[in-house]
Amino acid sequence: MDITHLDKWHSGRWNLECVDIESETHDVKTFHFRVRPGMDGDAPLCLHRPGQFVTLRLRHGEKLVPRSYTISSSPSRPHLMTMTIKRDPRGLVSRYMHDVLKVGDVLPVSGPGGHFDLISTTPRKSIVMLSGGSGITPVMSMLRYLHDTRAHDYDVTFLHSARTPADIIFRRELELIAERSGTRLGFICQNDAEDGMDQGFLTREILERRAPDILNSTVLTCGPEPYMNAVKGILAELGFDMAHYHQESFGDPAERENPEGATPESLTLDRVAEPEHIHHDAEHPAPPPESDVTEITFTVSDLTVPYKPGQTILEVATAAGIAIATNCQMGLCGTCKAHCLSGTVAMDDTEGLEPGEEEAGMVLTCCGRPKGPIQIEL
Ligand SMILES: Cc1cc2nc3c(=O)[nH]c(=O)nc-3n(C[C@H](O)[C@H](O)[C@H](O)COP(=O)(O)OP(=O)(O)OC[C@H]3O[C@@H](n4cnc5c(N)ncnc54)[C@H](O)[C@@H]3O)c2cc1C
Repeated sequence: MDITHLDKWHSGRWNLECVDIESETHDVKTFHFRVRPGMDGDAPLCLHRPGQFVTLRLRHGEKLVPRSYTISSSPSRPHLMTMTIKRDPRGLVSRYMHDVLKVGDVLPVSGPGGHFDLISTTPRKSIVMLSGGSGITPVMSMLRYLHDTRAHDYDVTFLHSARTPADIIFRRELELIAERSGTRLGFICQNDAEDGMDQGFLTREILERRAPDILNSTVLTCGPEPYMNAVKGILAELGFDMAHYHQESFGDPAERENPEGATPESLTLDRVAEPEHIHHDAEHPAPPPESDVTEITFTVSDLTVPYKPGQTILEVATAAGIAIATNCQMGLCGTCKAHCLSGTVAMDDTEGLEPGEEEAGMVLTCCGRPKGPIQIEL
């Protein structure tokens, strides 16, 4: 898969102008954005790896309330990007997007980021995509990309679970893609399944019937935590090699504390920088790795793990099987912070830390790279 052109949209901060809002289902809307022209001279293209996300920069007073949303569009259509967002009736930012944002507004974002994408996961020739609810968004970006670029060398099966047929996001487009590309498409509805759909939850029987080559496939999964746990359970029963399994979690909102008094109406857009002040990560590269960093010690896990220059603490921990809760993965939300007991860590961003936390030794593991040997309380 040729991806060289996908590096043009450096990760950084962007201003997205909302140019259209479309209803997908009763509680899901797709927001269409154009990157405002002027940066780097030309109108920039929206290039990302299919499956990546951006993090919205909204504030309540001074406090950033970052939320990440997958780019549901494909980089093969680079003049517009979309986010497809489910309205949580008690949620802060999804209600802002549905109820407050309007065409013409300019939304500041950071990104794109994330490694749950068609390129980083280096899929096998057979790909099985499994999604539940709004977890369809990264998979949709991948399917659109595969279809647009006529990537016929991939054999794709896509199974999507929804509450009812009316909750299936992108249904008509998916059916069209399946018809034209040969992608095997299956819907599993908890209630009111139509002819040709499965009723209930995804089971081993459904998976084996709809994706008979599952054991030779790369499996890409995104959905609610219980859904992904069920998928992993089925794959374990089948003896699937989990080296070929990748998933994206949309995070646990229960772990999140919204600022007191915040409502969708109280949110403001982060300062919209003038084009010349917008930074690209290319101008702020990761700090050069120090040559004497060779390992990180995780004190709670009682593990000392080799360190490759340039890696984040989160990447090293994940590879070592140490689970760290994450959300924005860009140093904005603070979900992944941990206490560094000794040594120095350089962070790309410190927005996710509360005042005083950096001085107290807290570090953001998603964007923190050691500047020497460190011990971290994880
Ligand atoms: C990488 C990534 C990609 C994502 N992509 C998408 C996408 O494409 N589309 C999409 O729709 N979503 C996506 N999400 C989820 C999204 O980021 C938000 O989590 C989601 O929209 C809810 O945010 P909110 O501000 O509306 O709700 P929040 O204000 O965060 O609240 C969410 C729920 O938690 C409850 N809650 C809030 N605070 C607490 C608390 N302290 N204790 C207990 N419960 C509480 C609320 O009542 C509400 O029901 C993605 C997430 C990640 C991490």
